[in-house]
Amino acid sequence: MNVLVLNCGSSTVKFQLIETDLEIMARDADRRLAQGILERIGGKSQITMKVDGNVVLRESRPIRDHRQAVDEIVRWVISEESGIDEIHSPSDIHAVGHRVVHGGEKFKASMKITEEVLSGIRDCIDLAPLHNPANLKGIEAVTRLLGAGMPQVAVFDTAFHSSMPAHNYLYAVPYHLYRRHSLRRYGFHGTSHRYISYRYRTLEQRKKEDVKIISLHLGNGCSACAIENGESLDTSMGMTPLEGLIMGTRSGDLDPSLVEFLTEVEGYSVGEVDTILNRNSGLLGVSGLTGDMRDLLFERKDTGDRRAGLAIKMFCTRIRKYIGAYLAQLNGAQAICFAGGIGENSAEIREEVCVGLESLGIHIDVDKNRNLPQDARGTVISKEDSPVKIYVIPTDEELLIARDAVRCIEH
Ligand code: ADP
Repeated sequence: MNVLVLNCGSSTVKFQLIETDLEIMARDADRRLAQGILERIGGKSQITMKVDGNVVLRESRPIRDHRQAVDEIVRWVISEESGIDEIHSPSDIHAVGHRVVHGGEKFKASMKITEEVLSGIRDCIDLAPLHNPANLKGIEAVTRLLGAGMPQVAVFDTAFHSSMPAHNYLYAVPYHLYRRHSLRRYGFHGTSHRYISYRYRTLEQRKKEDVKIISLHLGNGCSACAIENGESLDTSMGMTPLEGLIMGTRSGDLDPSLVEFLTEVEGYSVGEVDTILNRNSGLLGVSGLTGDMRDLLFERKDTGDRRAGLAIKMFCTRIRKYIGAYLAQLNGAQAICFAGGIGENSAEIREEVCVGLESLGIHIDVDKNRNLPQDARGTVISKEDSPVKIYVIPTDEELLIARDAVRCIEH
């Protein structure tokens, strides 16, 4: 089956076209036929399309809305110009899988989209006011363009964490607030943590129930996950993605009293403080330069910028704190797995996170860490005798979305 995977954000639509089915999955031989991104939707958009990892189209022109974006994607994948042999008409697309950010307490697994599922996604808008509406627009666009008969599946970012026990998902606030508003920790990046767990167990040839690892998704957004029996036991993001690790522009954990303090001392509204914590904090806020780790590492090395160095130190220290906390919760782990743009590409950050954790059984092999093979599905970067292995596992959320789409449809 050819599955179109869509990740619709407020002003971007990312897509991948993946060939997979139950037999291909069993052989772990899924194929990525094409991928692309349409940015700055609603204005002059930047369109980038890739086949076999090579950019085959890059142009800039206005794209009105999500519907037009999905239309552009479908037109391009079926066109001669894209050169995708498997796809010549919309009927060669057999299913669409959507990344949906928030599934609340309702969705604990991926779901074939029906009216009832749509209304459940709408019910979660309060919990993800920026993300879920964009995901719904993507679903509506597909229905209009490819017809109501096109099977669509929603894969929720929160679903993997639905296995968290109450003592990890509750906040220690009056219990009736949880009852009344479902005010609790949900966690995000679930599909990425699930992929990392899956890939780890295939590399180690373990059963799902035999996986006990700490997974670190370090991209623009960052989260850690303690995985036991192949399921999420705890994760660092909370009711929203703000909690936990320090990120590109998000503060991560802090004292909530800071909100009232800032409203009184600086005269900000609560909404303005929320914006500061989500968009102007983290690596960007501390360095005053950028939320982009690659640029920050460059600044530290090239100009010796003190605050760039401080931001990186804080970023790594927070990750180390979570590793310690999760090792305690798991009572030891088989491995720590790095993923995401920073986790996969920055040997420097992996080294700064791991060096000095030897007393916890974490021994990084500096040479292996600095010389990763290209295109590997996962690479061990710990010393041979390290009690806790360290892995770099390039994450692949789209693969799991495509596979979930097939499974939901076949069942
Ligand atoms: P998103 O969370 O938006 O999917 P990514 O997973 O692509 O983002 O991660 C983006 C982050 O990865 C940025 O901070 C970027 O600077 C960082 N990054 C990418 N390549 C490198 C690299 N070679 N060294 C350090 N950081 C990198």
